[in-house]
Formats: sequence, C-alpha cells, structure tokens
Amino acid sequence: MPPAVIFVSGSDFVGKIAIIGSGPAGMHAALLLARQNHKVEIFEKEPKPGGMLQYYLPKFRFTREGIRPKVESLEKLGVKIHLNTKIGIDKPLEGLISKFDAVILAPGEWVAKVPRLHGINLEKVVFWTEFLRDYNEGKLNSLEGKAITIGGGNTAMDCARVAKRLGAESIVAYRRSREGMPADLDEIAAAEKDGVEIKDHLSPVQFRGRTELESLVFEKTKGAGRELGMTGEQVEIKADYAILAIGQQPDPSILEGSKYNSFKELPDKVILAGDIANEKKLIATAIASATAAAEKANKIVDN
Ligand SMILES: Cc1cc2nc3c(=O)[nH]c(=O)nc-3n(C[C@H](O)[C@H](O)[C@H](O)COP(=O)(O)OP(=O)(O)OC[C@H]3O[C@@H](n4cnc5c(N)ncnc54)[C@H](O)[C@@H]3O)c2cc1C
Repeated sequence: MPPAVIFVSGSDFVGKIAIIGSGPAGMHAALLLARQNHKVEIFEKEPKPGGMLQYYLPKFRFTREGIRPKVESLEKLGVKIHLNTKIGIDKPLEGLISKFDAVILAPGEWVAKVPRLHGINLEKVVFWTEFLRDYNEGKLNSLEGKAITIGGGNTAMDCARVAKRLGAESIVAYRRSREGMPADLDEIAAAEKDGVEIKDHLSPVQFRGRTELESLVFEKTKGAGRELGMTGEQVEIKADYAILAIGQQPDPSILEGSKYNSFKELPDKVILAGDIANEKKLIATAIASATAAAEKANKIVDN
C-alpha cells in the first residue's frame, strides 16, 4: 500500500506560495501550507505581524502575548516573513504572481468607511482606524468631554469603551434598533458595564462646528430589529468628539503598480482569504477561509 503522506525533504519543496498579510488568515494559511512542505513567504506591510489583532483590538480585551509563539512556529517550519514590505506601488503584485505558483491575498480591510455628510472634515471627527491604533500605540492617553461613537458593531463597542477608559463621557449612537445592532451581545454588555451609554434609532445627518466639532445632528428613526424607517424629526447633541465606526473596506492601493484595476480581475492563481473574502468579518471566518485558500493553493500547485 502506498504511504498516505509523502514527505519531501531539504529544498525539494512541493510549491512556492506567497501570502500577503500576516493576520489570522495569512498566518493560518502559512501554517497549513508549510506543514505540507510548500515554500511559503509572507509579505506584511507593518513592522509587526498579527494584523488587526496586533494593531486594532484594544489591549484590555486582547493581549498580544499569543502572537509571538505563532510566528515562532511558522519560522520553525521555514516560513519567511518579510515585515515592512507593502505590496503595491513599490513591490507590485505582478512580481509575486510571476515568481510564485500561487498567491494568497489576505490583506484584511483597513480602510474605514466614510459617510458623505456635511462637516465630516471637522477637527475631532475621527475614524476607528486611527483612533484604535493611536490608543494601542500609547499615542492617545486621555479624552476630555463627550465622545459619540457612530456605529453598532464590535468595532464601535471597542471605540466607545476606549473613549470611556480615556476619561470621556462615552455614547454610542446607532441608526437602527438596539436589537438590530450587529455587535455581539457580550460586547454590548461589556460596553454598558464600562459605563458606555447606548442610544439607538439615531441616524447621523451632519457634524456642526467652525473648525472643531461642536455638535452632531441626527434624524430619529423607527423600526424593529434591522428595519430602518426615517421619521423626519431631528435632534442635535453637543459633543467634543465623534468617532466613526460604520464599517471597513479593502485598500485598493495593493493593486497599484499592477495591471489590475479591481480584485475581481485577478488571475485564478491569486486566492482571496480572510476579511476581504468574507461576509462575516471575524477571526473564526478568517481562519476557515484560510483553510479553503490553502486547499485551493494545493490544487493549483498539483495541476
Ligand atoms: C476593533 C476590532 C475588534 C474586533 N473584535 C473581534 C472579535 O471580538 N472577535 C472576532 O472574531 N473578530 C473581531 N474582529 C475582526 C477580526 O480582527 C478580523 O476579522 C480578522 O483580523 C481578519 O483577519 P485577516 O487575516 O483577514 O485580516 P487582518 O487581521 O486585517 O490582517 C491583514 C494583514 O494584511 C496586511 N496588509 C494589508 N495590506 C497589505 C499590503 N498592501 N502589503 C502587505 N501587507 C498588507 C495588514 O497590515 C495586516 O497585517 C475585530 C476587528 C476590529 C477592527
């Protein structure tokens, strides 16, 4: 009977796989493929690996201690991690496509969604990306006055909890009903336990102020669950900060310098994994899609 697994030793790699991004998806795909004796290289734009877990999740909720051992086990398997290496204009994607048998693209979604609202460019109107990163890097140590976080997901809960811990009066304003909030119930409960106030049925209309934010205008909404009905009635709430956490999207700069204008145009040997490929943006779904991406990469190498 033939052996179930054929081990290939030394430099006889099965295939060469490039992985863009060292978040949960990139690292998990790397682990699976390196264990199957592929030569795996990870390209990561940041100075530290770990993706959102490294840069965005607040440190009081997620310690970074678990990241290092994962990186070490990858290195032991021979995975090469190129930090500070941004794929895009300086190192175009096409170079990787021609050099490797398959490319797993797991860059996450690091661009905050920006609503088209009057006053969005006022000072003290900030986005979850810069806000959470500055906090985690120790660049933001206090916040005075009232901070209103707009959004209803886990990221919004984290922003509001951070604002509260930094000293602000912290409010979450969500446009649908409380029951329709996408955040995990545990995360909503934790925010309230921290002293965050949750106001539902408030849809932002404009940010007011001369150069700095002074107040937010909302339209009251109605509707149960995920229904969204507008009432026409407006309310103005004074605030010192607005933190926008209404969603995330992919950074198209990864395609700069290549002939591709959209992620849909990429050739078959480029496999999307993690948040960029998933409807539900979670660690578990990122890992599941990385498993599928690794299987697909194996098939590409086999053919
Ligand atoms: C505040 C916050 C709280 C969250 N809370 C939870 C939670 O409680 N539970 C949960 O399950 N999920 C949570 N998530 C979601 C979870 O973090 C993501 O779903 C997960 O990290 C996605 O993994 P990923 O590997 O697809 O991408 P990411 O973790 O985003 O990693 C992508 C990596 O690719 C790199 N990259 C991007 N572009 C390039 C480029 N051009 N060149 C090279 N490298 C590049 C990035 O620097 C990054 O390191 C939270 C997210 C946020 C922001």
